[in-house]
Amino acid sequence: MERTTNYTHPDRIVTIAVDVQNDFLPGGSLAVTNGNEVTTPLNRIMDLTRDFDGTVVATRDWHPANTPHFDKWPVHCVADTKGAAFDDALRIDANTIILDKGTGQTDGYSGFDGRGPNGETIEQIITPRTTRERVAVLIGGLATDYCVRATVLDAAELARKIAAARQGIVDVYALTDAMRGVDLQPGDSQKALAEMQAAGAELVTTDFIITGGLL
Ligand SMILES: [Zn+2]
Repeated sequence: MERTTNYTHPDRIVTIAVDVQNDFLPGGSLAVTNGNEVTTPLNRIMDLTRDFDGTVVATRDWHPANTPHFDKWPVHCVADTKGAAFDDALRIDANTIILDKGTGQTDGYSGFDGRGPNGETIEQIITPRTTRERVAVLIGGLATDYCVRATVLDAAELARKIAAARQGIVDVYALTDAMRGVDLQPGDSQKALAEMQAAGAELVTTDFIITGGLL
């Protein structure tokens, strides 16, 4: 089926689901209000990414039991606990690249700090493989004002570096309906979205990505 396209079509798609883990869902130890609502739009985008032979990445907080990170936050997402497990409804499959972050004594807010089972990083995954390759990076998850913010800002910075070095093109899309924020201070999430946009990320809804023809 043909779709009208508003996009320069990418050669490769990478979707990153940030920290959709039980402790960040309602009932979890660091619950994000309505955090469970990110799963349905993320599943849609993850399925379509697979249909287009793209790469699906899922990051997770994977903390040791003792870390200075827990001086700032309630204990959450301790490695190998139920709270650190992904939302049961999130469609992780055998080809999903799972990146663990915050595994040492660091906060590990950004997915760029994460490492896969073979040492993979987001930077390696999204860097264009040729100078002509255009890579679309779609990012959603939890929480807008912390780990999603940090991941989108790092992706936007890498996109700028790659463009400046003429090593290909990376377009960064922040999926506004597929993220929810902590908002310790009212407006933190809105501020984070403004920062993402200022850094060069496009703020788009899942529907817009699909009806606009990117996927
Ligand atoms: Zn954490």
